[in-house]
Amino acid sequence: MSFCIFCKIANHEIPGKVLYEDDLCMAFLDLSQATDGHTLVVPKSHYESFLDVNEDTLAHMIKVTQKLALMLQDKLNAKGFNIITNANEVAGQSVKHFHIHIIPRYEEHEGFSPQYTDRSKDVNLDEIYNKIMK
Ligand code: AMP
Ligand code: ZN
Repeated sequence: MSFCIFCKIANHEIPGKVLYEDDLCMAFLDLSQATDGHTLVVPKSHYESFLDVNEDTLAHMIKVTQKLALMLQDKLNAKGFNIITNANEVAGQSVKHFHIHIIPRYEEHEGFSPQYTDRSKDVNLDEIYNKIMK
């Protein structure tokens, strides 16, 4: 029995558009296709997020992610990539099985915007740094 939807895809219990597979991980097209070729890399074992995934599995998945990005660059003529993982609901994680998004970029604002706010004028960098380092 599988834990979740990505376990089911990784175990071939439900179909996915699989681009790559080995003993540790699988990559398949994200249904939402934020941009053409939007791909998810998932471990075959169930981990909730980036925060608890086994470190050897993570290291392997990062190498696979790079190979796939290069493949998508070649096949789809992508001009760049956003490589993203959301950890926990507060960060926008909706599927609680660790996954890395590979989002090919073609035009500046096509389909996806990874914008974050520049708060540099409003924050005290020393205060934040000291909180982390003390
Ligand atoms: P996140 O919000 O980071 O948890 O991303 C979850 C992603 O999984 C979303 O981009 C969904 O479009 C995608 N997704 C959910 N179910 C499926 C599925 N069955 N096959 C492919 N992608 C899926
Ligand atoms: Zn799972």
